[in-house]
Amino acid sequence: MTPIAFTALFLAALGASLAVRIWLSRRQVAHVQAHRDAVPPAFVSRIGLAAHQKAADYTVAKQRLATINTLVDAAMLLLMTVGGGLSLVIGWTAAIPVPQLWQDVLLFAVTGILYGLVGLPFSWWQTFRIEERFGFNRMTWKLWLTDMAKGLAVSIALGLPLLVLVLWLMRTAGALWWLWAWSAWMAFQLLILVLYPTLIAPLFNKFTPLAEGPARERIEALLVRCGFARAGLFVMDGSKRSGHGNAYFTGFGRAKRIVFFDTLLTRLVPDEIEAVLAHELGHYKLKHVARRVAWSAALSLVVLVLLAWLAREPWFYAGLGIPDALLQVSMARPGVALELFLLALPVFTFALEPLSALYSRKHEFEADAYATRNADATALTQALVKLYEDNAATLTPDPLHSAFYDSHPPAAIRIAHIESLVRGSQALQPA
Ligand SMILES: [Zn+2]
Repeated sequence: MTPIAFTALFLAALGASLAVRIWLSRRQVAHVQAHRDAVPPAFVSRIGLAAHQKAADYTVAKQRLATINTLVDAAMLLLMTVGGGLSLVIGWTAAIPVPQLWQDVLLFAVTGILYGLVGLPFSWWQTFRIEERFGFNRMTWKLWLTDMAKGLAVSIALGLPLLVLVLWLMRTAGALWWLWAWSAWMAFQLLILVLYPTLIAPLFNKFTPLAEGPARERIEALLVRCGFARAGLFVMDGSKRSGHGNAYFTGFGRAKRIVFFDTLLTRLVPDEIEAVLAHELGHYKLKHVARRVAWSAALSLVVLVLLAWLAREPWFYAGLGIPDALLQVSMARPGVALELFLLALPVFTFALEPLSALYSRKHEFEADAYATRNADATALTQALVKLYEDNAATLTPDPLHSAFYDSHPPAAIRIAHIESLVRGSQALQPA
């Protein structure tokens, strides 16, 4: 391939992904606004008009911010690549009298800071304008800044050793460096899985064991019924930051933990909590989690093989804005290939997003079916309706936007599916 052909391919992919993003975003806004004045028939008896309209306005506000963010990110990508931004940083770091490996680390640090600064106003606007306006935000300026400082410290503490290791392997491990880098990446993922619940998450939130009481009894009975190995049951002070409710699993093997946001526990009654948890257990029992891990392992191997190939091709560098004068020094520094690759890759993988979303929605349907077999289906729909309402999630997403991006099925389809399962199992029962 020639550099010009690769530049053309890159710009075409960026243009196409941008056009699709904006088109879908406009569809979403138009669809949500067109359905703002009436609660969908399936929800009329369960959600009030005011809550429905709040969800519509919240969805539109978030969508608009996301669109601006998309445009700014695209501009940033153009500036950094064909605009010569990365070349400037490469030239600047090449002049610093430290070994090339550390010049590469500096390249990542500077690029990371630039991207961080560009992302900051969006994060601020999301929290202090949008979340605030819709009554979800519980963050103060101080907490926001402390979170950021802690997040930065954690990413340096974990990310820096990984980066140095990968850059070192790219340099010294020979033609099969990508296999070593992949092993390092897998080990790192495993390490995060262990460290996240025990060390990282507690830096940001307080976790207390779930108190004795009706909810705990229901949950423990469910765990036994589903043949689930004993897991720690914890409550997280999610209300410290936001009014949104949630529940999740972390860890693996014997270190499994089930975490409930305090906001979820105050809002749902015990049989609804049980149904939500049964859904989450379904993801484990039906091997969704294991399958996701396997997929991501396979994909990261493919991605590394691709990088190993591209890093040897001059057109890859030249096509993404590295001038001839810097070509030799860039090809001698694996960090340059890695940074260019990480910047440009999402433009090409964007087209795969609907597949990943479809796969995820299939799992959601399966986990719902599991939940209806092991807990009360009516309680599950009640819990879902409450969560849609509390999180101001729209009940009327644009079908195409939803098909492209959404990891969960649209509310109406999801609830209709659960209700059809209940009718199906009733039909099977002897009269
Ligand atoms: Zn799920």
